Amino acid sequence: MTLQSLSNLDGILTPIEVEISLLPGLPNIQVVGLPDAAIKESAIKVKAAIRSQGFEFPKARTVIINLRPSNIRKSSQGLELAMVLGILMQTNQIKFPCELHEKKCLIYGEINLHGEVFCPEDIRGFGEFENESSILVTGENSYVLGVDQYQIKTLAQIANGQVYKGQEFKFTTQRPNLSGTKFTKEQARLMSIVAAGEHPLLLVGPSGTGKSTFIHQIPSLLRPPSSVATKEIYKLWKGKIPPWRPVVSPHHSATMLAMVGGGVPPKIGEVSRAHGGTLLMDEFLEYRSEVFEALREPIETGKIVIARGSFEKVFPAKFLLLATSNLCKCGNYVPKRSNKCICTNRDKQLYFSRFNGPMLDRVSVIAFTDGWDKMGDIGLERILDNVNAAIKFSQKTRSQELPNHNVEFSDLKIDEKIGILETSSRRRLKLFKQVLRTIADLEGCKTPKSYHFEEASQLCLKSHQRITTQLALY
Ligand SMILES: [Zn+2]
Repeated sequence: MTLQSLSNLDGILTPIEVEISLLPGLPNIQVVGLPDAAIKESAIKVKAAIRSQGFEFPKARTVIINLRPSNIRKSSQGLELAMVLGILMQTNQIKFPCELHEKKCLIYGEINLHGEVFCPEDIRGFGEFENESSILVTGENSYVLGVDQYQIKTLAQIANGQVYKGQEFKFTTQRPNLSGTKFTKEQARLMSIVAAGEHPLLLVGPSGTGKSTFIHQIPSLLRPPSSVATKEIYKLWKGKIPPWRPVVSPHHSATMLAMVGGGVPPKIGEVSRAHGGTLLMDEFLEYRSEVFEALREPIETGKIVIARGSFEKVFPAKFLLLATSNLCKCGNYVPKRSNKCICTNRDKQLYFSRFNGPMLDRVSVIAFTDGWDKMGDIGLERILDNVNAAIKFSQKTRSQELPNHNVEFSDLKIDEKIGILETSSRRRLKLFKQVLRTIADLEGCKTPKSYHFEEASQLCLKSHQRITTQLALY
C-alpha cells in the first residue's frame, strides 16, 4: 500500500511516498526513511486515534511505514493522516473514497488522540513554487487553498464515505481608491502608456519633481490580475493575498538575498513578492550592482531559480518594474538651468555613467522630469478611462488578454520611418515596438500612424540615446 503525502523540506512542502506494510510481530508502528522525532512520536497518536474512532489496530502485526525518497530527512505536520488511512486501508477497514484516486491524492492532515482531523497551518505555503495539479485530502480548515481539496472531519466519517469538497478558490479583486492627485497632459499621457501596456519605466530628473508620486499612482491603473496570476500570488503570499495586484517597494540598501530570495530554508525575495504586480525602485542607481545583476534573470524570464547543492527551486517573478533616479548624487541638478547642485562636473559624469549598464535595456520607457514644474488638472479617473479603452481595443481587435509584451510587428516597415533605429539594439527595437503598439491602442488605431512612431521613438529610443550619451547632462 502506497499513499502520497508531503514533507517539509527546508520550509517547502514537497511530495513524498508513504509505503505501508504489515509483518508478523508485536502490535507496533515502525517508521523508517529518515523521519524526525515528531514523526516518530505521531506513531503513538496514530494508534490512539485508530482505537478511539472504533477501528482496530492490527493484532500480532508490526506496521512498517517507509517514507520515500529515503535520502532526505523528513519533517512533517500532516503525515499522520496518510499513516492512519494507510493502516486502515491495508487492514480493509476502510476503502478510499470512490471519487478520489489514491495515487493522485496528496494526503496531509494532523490528527488528535480522538481521531479528529485538522488541516496543518503550513499547508498555506503548499505549491508555493510550482504548479501543483494534485488533489489534496486534508482536515477541516477555515481558509481557502489555491488547490483542489477534499476535507475529512473525523476518521469514522471517511469509513462512511463522508468526504467534503473544499471551498473553491475564488477571489475578488478590488482596485485601490484613486487618489486626488492631478497631472499635466504630458504626465497623464505617459501614465496611460505605461499602465495600458505595462511597460517597465525609468523616470529620471532632479528631486522634487514628483517622480516618486508618479510611479506610486501607476499600480492602481493596471488591469486586474488574471486568474492564473491570482492563484500564484495567493501561494506566494501564503494565503494573505493583497486585495489588488501586489506593490513592493524595497529600500535601495536591500541585499541581493532580500531582492531575489534564497537562504536556508529558502525564502522568496522581493521580486517574487512583486510577482503579478509592481516592483517600485526609487533611487534606482543607488541599488547595489549585484542586485542589478540578479534582476536580469527575472526581468528576462519572469522567474528566478534558486539552486543550493542538488536542491533547485523555481520562484515565479514576473513584475512591472517602475524606477526613478536623480540626475546627480545630491539630487538637485537640472540640465540647462541654474540650480542648487553641489556636485562637480566629474561627479555628475561618474554618476551618469552608471546608466550605461545592461540594466537600462530592461526598461522600455525612459522619461525625463526636468520640465515637470507645472500644475496639472487631469485626475486619475480620466487616465484610467484611457487605459481601459486601450486594453479593450487590444482585446477586441487582437483577442489579446495580456499586455503588449509579445506583440509581433512583422507587418510594420519601421526602418524606413525612423532613422535612429540603426543605432539601437535589437532588444531596444523590440521594446520600441511594444510601446508603439500601446500608443496606437490608446487611440484605437489598428495601424500606427507616423506621429505614433515619433512618440514611441521619443520615449524608447531618443531618451535612451540621450541618457547613454549623457546628452541630458548639458
Ligand atoms: Zn548634484
